[in-house]
Amino acid sequence: MFNEKAQKMKLDDIRELQEERLLKQVRYAYENVPMYKKRFKEEGIKPSDIKKLEDVSKVPFTVKDDLRDHYPYGILAVPKEKVVRFHASSGTTGTPTVVAYNRKDMDVWGDLMARCYDAAGAKPEYIVQNAYGYGLFTGGLGFHQGAEVLGCSVLPTSTGNTKKQVTMLNDFKTDVLACTPSYAIYLAEAAEKHGYDPIEDFDLKVGMFGAEPWSEEARDSIEESYDMKAQDVYGMSELYGPGVAIECSEQKGLHIWSDHFLVETIDPNTGEVLPEGEKGELVFTMLTREAMPLLRYRTKDVGSVTYEECECGRKHPRIESIDGRSDDMLIVGGVNVFPSQVEDALLETEGIAEHYQIIVDRDVLDRLFVRAEVDRDYYESDEYDEEKLKEEASENLKAVLNINARLKLLQPGSLPRTVGKAKRVIDQREEHDRIEEL
Ligand code: ADP
Ligand code: ZN
Repeated sequence: MFNEKAQKMKLDDIRELQEERLLKQVRYAYENVPMYKKRFKEEGIKPSDIKKLEDVSKVPFTVKDDLRDHYPYGILAVPKEKVVRFHASSGTTGTPTVVAYNRKDMDVWGDLMARCYDAAGAKPEYIVQNAYGYGLFTGGLGFHQGAEVLGCSVLPTSTGNTKKQVTMLNDFKTDVLACTPSYAIYLAEAAEKHGYDPIEDFDLKVGMFGAEPWSEEARDSIEESYDMKAQDVYGMSELYGPGVAIECSEQKGLHIWSDHFLVETIDPNTGEVLPEGEKGELVFTMLTREAMPLLRYRTKDVGSVTYEECECGRKHPRIESIDGRSDDMLIVGGVNVFPSQVEDALLETEGIAEHYQIIVDRDVLDRLFVRAEVDRDYYESDEYDEEKLKEEASENLKAVLNINARLKLLQPGSLPRTVGKAKRVIDQREEHDRIEEL
C-alpha cells in the first residue's frame, strides 16, 4: 500500500519512530539470526545496551562478505517457507549476494517505490515504461511493483530491444521512463537514428534513473533531449533494491525514506561516525525488514547526508550526492580517482558527449587513459576543432584529478552502449603484473 502520509512526517516523529523501531529490530536480529547473536557476543554487547537512537553506533557493522559467506540463503531471520521472493545483486563486484523478502517486506518495498514515483512527479494515471532488467536484478521487478502500487500502468519492456523501446515510447506516449541513466542517453540517440524526435514524438514527463552514478551534466543532457524531468533514484539489492532514496522536484539531493532506513555516514578507514554533512561511506540499518534484517550495513557508497529542510516539505534527510563506491575508486600513482570526477570534468567541456571510458595500466608507473566521444552535433558542425577540444578537456581533467590523464577523442558512436549499468573502468594493471611475473 502506498503510504502517502509517511512522506510528510515531521523530523521529530521520524526520529521517535526510528528509535522505537531500532530497539525492536536489534532484538529481532539478535534473536533470529545466529550471525548477529554471535557477533554481539564477540563484541560483548546485548540488545538491551541499545537504549536510544544514538546507541546505534555500538552495533557491529554488517558487510557484503557477511552475505556472501551465508550464500545462498542469506542471513534469514524467518523459515525459508515464509520467503516469497529471492533476488541477487547484479554482481558488478564479485560473487552475487542473495537477498530475501517475506510478504510484509514486499509490501514495504512496494510502498517505498510508490513513494519514489510520487516524489519524482509521477501520477497514478501515468504509463510507466520499465526498461530495467527483469530477473534476479532488483531493478526490473522493483520499479514494476512500485508503479503498480501507485496505480500507474506498466509496460514491462525490460532491457534491450532498443528499437522496440523507441517504438513504444512513440506509440504509447509513455509518461515515465525507468532505466539506467546511461541507457536513457543511448535511447535518445537510438530514437533519432530510427527517425523519431524524442521531444516532438514522445510525451515523456519523468525519468526514474538510477542504479549507477551519473552527473549533473548527464542530467541536463537527458532533460534537454527528451524535454522531461530526470530524477535520480538510489538503492541496492541488500536494501530491498531501488527505492531507498529519491530526488523530489527540487533536485537537491535524494530523500531517504527514514521511517524504514536509519542512515549514518562513517569514515571508511576507522569506522567512526561522521558529523552531518561530511562526506563518507553510507551505512544503513534496515528498521523493518523481517526476512533478512541488516544492521549497520556498509554500502561502500561514498556520499554525504543533510537534515536541512527541503523546499518540497519532506523532512526525510537527503543524500546530497553519491560519488560512487569506495571500491570503485582507483588509486592511480598514489592519487585517488573517482570515475564520477572524470565524468564531471569531461562533461564540463562543451563538445564532449556522455560516453567515455577510463583505462588504467602500468608501464613501470601507473598510467591513466581517458577515451571520450565527441558530441555528434558538434562533430558534424563547421566549428569542430579537435585540437582545441582536446586541450580544453585535458585541462578540465587535470584540474579535477590532480594527475595527468592521456585523453583520446573518439568519433560519435565509437564506444559500446549498454542496456543496463555502463562499464566505464578498465583496469589492466593486474594483467601487466601477471605478465611480468611469468
Ligand atoms: P551490484 O552491487 O551487483 O551492482 P545492485 O544492482 O544492487 O548490485 O547495485 C547497487 C549499487 O549501485 C549501489 O551500491 C551503488 O553503488 C549503485 N547505485 C545505485 N543507485 C545509484 C545512484 N542513483 N547513483 C549512484 N550509484 C548508484
Ligand atoms: Zn525535497
